[in-house]
Amino acid sequence: MEVRVQDIRKDFGRFPALDKVSLDIRSGELIALLGPSGSGKTTLLRLIAGLESPTDGTIFFGDDDASKKTVQERNIGFVFQHYALFRHMTVIDNVAFGLKVRPSSRRPAAADIRKRAEDLIDLVQLGGLEKRYPAQLSGGQRQRVALARAMAVEPNVLLLDEPFGALDAQVRKELRRWLREIHDRTGHTTVFVTHDQDEALELADRVVVMSKGRIEQVGTPDEIYDTPNSPFVFGFIGQSNTLPVRVENGQLWLEDRSIGVSAPGEPAGPAELYFRPHDIDLLDGCGGCLAGVVTLSRRVAGTRHVELDIAGSTRRIEIELPSDVAATPGTRIAFRPNRWRLFRS
Ligand code: ATP
Repeated sequence: MEVRVQDIRKDFGRFPALDKVSLDIRSGELIALLGPSGSGKTTLLRLIAGLESPTDGTIFFGDDDASKKTVQERNIGFVFQHYALFRHMTVIDNVAFGLKVRPSSRRPAAADIRKRAEDLIDLVQLGGLEKRYPAQLSGGQRQRVALARAMAVEPNVLLLDEPFGALDAQVRKELRRWLREIHDRTGHTTVFVTHDQDEALELADRVVVMSKGRIEQVGTPDEIYDTPNSPFVFGFIGQSNTLPVRVENGQLWLEDRSIGVSAPGEPAGPAELYFRPHDIDLLDGCGGCLAGVVTLSRRVAGTRHVELDIAGSTRRIEIELPSDVAATPGTRIAFRPNRWRLFRS
């Protein structure tokens, strides 16, 4: 189901945890809420669920104002980081729980509940473990049960709050891929909270980057990575370099040297240049470029990560080069950013 968050404000006492947050979540979309600790991700999720009410603003489920609906009426599936499954219930009873406790008018027949629970257990690839108790499962298996349980009620929206946060890196990676597959098969509108950039970029249809109770940017993983619209997003997603430059006559200058980058239409004056380590062209000669001396060079898989002291700046810059480029400490390297952004304070 489509969910529209409109001009939401949420104060805890005098502290605004969310301020003027608006977001349209399309039906069937997998959305990641990404941001540092305290940016308001969980608060937004809890507001969508109805576990908190907004100080101001409205949330729509389809065309209905959700503020008039109880948590139950919103029909949400929720998975938390430490989701306590019912310890005294088997896997199948945990998954079937949400259907069993429905009022009799909406409760499917016992055989249908069982069939649905079994199908979901197969879907999350836990077939054969129906009779196990949570204590007899690994952390990753428990989160799969939690997801099956959340999906059993055919929720309007699935809300996942750092569901893999407590698991080790390898299991996390597997579950990410797995969650994306499950989502593509079931098509539930899903909102996923994470503070892990890779997780958000790999999993989501669209990423919502949050900071200090506000939405900084909403976009596809490519848009967020390739065209971050603020220094915060640039710095928070992936690696980035910054250099204080000056715009003059549509050219970028570092101190008194042109760096060979045209910036047509940019107003003159000081600006901060942002570029990613791999967005550069290596140059043989330097008639307008950035130049630096290698201070550190290390091979990372198929590329070489090189740190440079840049002439004309005290800042250190990291660039990525093909692994066969000789770049031992002391080597002088000339390059030019080929994809970059300017921000002004
Ligand atoms: P994390 O990644 O650490 O879970 P988050 O982005 O999910 O962080 P929230 O949990 O939404 O952040 O919290 C946003 C802000 O609101 C924080 O500063 C937090 O301290 C505050 N906050 C959250 N819940 C409450 C509450 N019940 N009472 C008071 N302040 C709260």
